[in-house]
Amino acid sequence: MKKRNPVETLANAPHEFGEHGGVNMSVEASTTFTVLHSRTMPEIFRGQKGPEQGGCYLYGRHFNPTVYSLGKQLAALEGTEAAYCTASGMSAISSTLLQLCDARDHIVSSNTIYGGTYALMHDLLPPKTGIETTLVDITDLEAVEAAITERTRVIFTESIANPTLRVADIPGLSEIAQRHGIKLVVDNTFSPLILSPKALGADIVVHSMTKFINGASDYIAGAVCADQEFIQELMDLHTGMLMILGPTMDPQVAFNISLRIPHLPLRMKEHSMRAQIFAERLQARGLAVTYPGLSVHPDHDLLSKLQCAEYGYGGILTLDVGTETLAYELLDLLQNKHHFGYVAVSLGYFDTLMSCPGSSTSSEMTDEDKSAAGISPGLVRMSLGITGTLEQRWQQLESALHQTGILAVSDRVQPETRLVVG
Ligand code: PLP
Repeated sequence: MKKRNPVETLANAPHEFGEHGGVNMSVEASTTFTVLHSRTMPEIFRGQKGPEQGGCYLYGRHFNPTVYSLGKQLAALEGTEAAYCTASGMSAISSTLLQLCDARDHIVSSNTIYGGTYALMHDLLPPKTGIETTLVDITDLEAVEAAITERTRVIFTESIANPTLRVADIPGLSEIAQRHGIKLVVDNTFSPLILSPKALGADIVVHSMTKFINGASDYIAGAVCADQEFIQELMDLHTGMLMILGPTMDPQVAFNISLRIPHLPLRMKEHSMRAQIFAERLQARGLAVTYPGLSVHPDHDLLSKLQCAEYGYGGILTLDVGTETLAYELLDLLQNKHHFGYVAVSLGYFDTLMSCPGSSTSSEMTDEDKSAAGISPGLVRMSLGITGTLEQRWQQLESALHQTGILAVSDRVQPETRLVVG
């Protein structure tokens, strides 16, 4: 079966021209929209007229044309019928879960998820809504199915997990979700283009566009990609989580992000290529590196089967250096002496970003949950950038690894045995 390449659907998506024929769409700066005839207004409020039915807009928090156009790009990227963009990845996730679950419903979620999503499920939803979550090893399909109760509405997972880089078996999870009449929600933040969760069986795909999709670490943004019916539900004037809770994306942000999507494929290829080579070199030196592109990774075969190979295995790798103290020493040297990257949370930036998830992006998790998920104190997460030359960056990394003693001088691999840059 031919694998879906999202670049083809992106290229086939209708191009939005500017108001005066500009090659780029216009930024719709108005928060409110006129109707030609007053009697159209109640029709919009009743949901009988909208952007797809008569081209009527109402109010910026409902549908803004520029944000709506970016949504169309996201729908093309993910191969969903529709999509809507939000002010953050967290608002895309929280709105989706609140739309799908009523009070006292239940979620089965992967136990390795971004700390904010964990906090939402573990700390915020139970006291506020009675919505409970059971965390499971998402790679154990039997455990996933066993956790489903009659109140379960959602299976939630990240496609490639933050920060453990375990890969979800989306077709397997989809089969379980369908059998139980519940929804499979996949956070595809780590693997845009690499994985197409909808084509693999997911019902709803969410993104933090703050990361790879935008690529410049200058906007916080999110998206929900789903069928038309679910997007309409989110925009419902009475009960829609996006409409009522109001995590609205600014149209200028939507415009700027839309200009970066056309070069997302080029960026993803470079991020993945560098991560693959660095992971192979770290592995060759006997270091505890985790990267799904390595054949020893427990989900390498699964990801190889599901991925669109052109975009590789992703731009993130982790290195376990043993202790938090050593991890901090390494990060400080890499940033302040060798200029390899920045000690900062987040990922998908054009420069390398590095952090210790245990004490930062996963610090919301209890020690017990962190250890169940395999997030150790000495774990360093690197989102590999695409600036500088690959060899220049490798030398910076290798020097810091030697300086900290993580890599003994005797482990220095001779240049002629270095892996060839592909
Ligand atoms: N999902 C994943 C996998 C993330 O890594 C993050 C943030 O790091 C989020 C969601 C939340 O996104 P945002 O910061 O855009 O709200």
